[in-house]
Parts: sequence; C-alpha cells; structure tokens
Amino acid sequence: MRPSPALAGGGRTVANLLSATEWMLPSPATQVHTISVLPSHSPPSPPHHFAFSNLTTAPKRNGGKGEEEGRPRFEVVRDDLLHPLANGNKARKLDALLPLLRRRGATDVVTCGGCQSAHAAATGVIRLVEYLYNLSSFHKHENVHVVVDAGTGTTAVGLALGAVCLGLHWRVTAVMLADTLERYKEREKSLISDFKKLCHNNYHEMVGENDIGDSLVEWVERFSPRRFGKVLNGEIALCRQIAQQTGILLDPMYTLAGWEQAVDLCVGDSRTKVVMIHTGGTLGFCGLAQRYSSHFTSDEQT
Ligand SMILES: *Cc1c(COP(=O)(O)O)cnc(C)c1O
Repeated sequence: MRPSPALAGGGRTVANLLSATEWMLPSPATQVHTISVLPSHSPPSPPHHFAFSNLTTAPKRNGGKGEEEGRPRFEVVRDDLLHPLANGNKARKLDALLPLLRRRGATDVVTCGGCQSAHAAATGVIRLVEYLYNLSSFHKHENVHVVVDAGTGTTAVGLALGAVCLGLHWRVTAVMLADTLERYKEREKSLISDFKKLCHNNYHEMVGENDIGDSLVEWVERFSPRRFGKVLNGEIALCRQIAQQTGILLDPMYTLAGWEQAVDLCVGDSRTKVVMIHTGGTLGFCGLAQRYSSHFTSDEQT
C-alpha cells in the first residue's frame, strides 16, 4: 500500500485495527462517480432547476470538452451498488459485525432501530474512509467535504471518526432526517465516548494529539424539513429525472436529501471536493411504490 503521512501517526493503529478484523465484504472497494451540475432552463432556486450528468459513465465527447467543462461537480460513492438489496450503509455496518456474529454461531440477524453495535458499524465505515483516502483522486485533495443523510447518525459519526483516526481534515456534514439537533448531538457524544472506551489504550495512539472532544459532525437541516418519512410534491419526479440523467437511483426520504446538500455545497465552493455517500435504501422503494403507486406505473413518466 502507498505510504501515507497518516500511517506515520495514528493511521498505523487504524491499519492494525482494520487488518485484525474479519470482514463480510471481500474488498472495501466501491465505485466513485463524478456528477456534473448544469444550470437548467429556469434560473432561480436550487436544487430543482439543475440538470446533471454522470461524467464517469457518460460517453466522452470529442476531446472530452463537453458543456460540463468548468462546471460545479461532486463525487458520489456508489455504495448502493455493493449488493442488489443489502447495500449502502447497512452493508458497511454489517461488514465487521456479520463475521463476528457468525463466529458466535448466529444464523439469523434481526435488527431494530438503535440496537446496533456502534463499534462494529464504525469499523466498517472507517474501512470505507481508508479505502477512499487511498484513491489517488482523494489523497491529493486536502479539502474534502463528505455529505451523508442521517437516520440515527451512526454512519455520519463513523465517517468522522474514520477521518480523525486517519489524520484527515475532512469535514462531515450530515442531513438530519429523523430527529432533532439536540438528539443527534447527544447520540454523537455517546457514540464517540463508546468508541473511546472500546479502543481502550489504543485510542490515544489512534487519534494522536488531536483530542477530538465529542463533536465532529456538522448536523444540518434538510432544505425542506418535514416529518420523517414524508414525501413532498415533485420529489419522486426529481428522483426520476436524476436517474434518467445519471443512472443513479435516489429515494425521496433519504438519499435525495444528501444529493441536494451535495449540489448546494459544490455550487457554492469550487475548491472543495464534495463527496456524497450513497447510503443505499433500495429496499425502501418497495414501500414507496405501494404508497405512491401512481408514480410507479408506466404511464406516469413526466
Ligand atoms: C439506514 C439508512 C440511513 C440511516 O443511517 P444512520 O447510520 O442510522 O444514520 C440513511 N440512509 C439510508 C438510505 C438508509 O437505509
């Protein structure tokens, strides 16, 4: 592996942690797609009036000088492609947890709301951060701003812990979808303190001199806040538009919120590498198609 400044410090401990862990996923690899943001016909108000193109999958135009040249862009970490159904952040959370459970003889796993092993979940997400950092397109960039949608917020905290442990000055912004700012901060504090305890003595080696305190993530409201699970007018159509233009499937409850945040950040700041983690959510489409069936029939395509 490429020697990195991070490995000189706490990164070595992270490398030890990661190499001592048994994984569900054979490799941490995931696809990263670059999305170009183009203005659409009617100017004002993001994010509904943008058009998008997927520079990674789109056929190259003559000499690569398309209309995307110089446009705002952001990266999408395609964890939604890890598995047809069990993908996204759930796959990352299970990455370290499943082998552990299997070894203890578990044959079935039932999960609910908050009872997940935060430590194992964080380990899987840290493995993802390390993988991304080792991509040449990432480690050359100092200013990386990661965006993720948050249910419990475990994924967001895991990403931030991963960055700290690897000595990266990455910002992590989480879009709050299911709770209040106060509750997210509370949970963050307790996840960080659990992580510190579980790492025991290794923890100080791991984070080096940075005392991380108990707040790493920037928690933000969704642009159009609503009761969790509610879908607003036009959002399913917007998801369809994005799917048609980029081949990336989003759902209006979770991943569209992250997408909107990533678009806003990259339009406002061209020097930062904005990275959206696609948290998956594919199974949610079944429920969505039942609740909003008119949007999922073939004659509704506008
Ligand atoms: C489960 C899930 C989340 C919530 O993840 P947390 O780690 O609880 O914040 C977010 N997005 C999608 C698509 C999910 O399936």
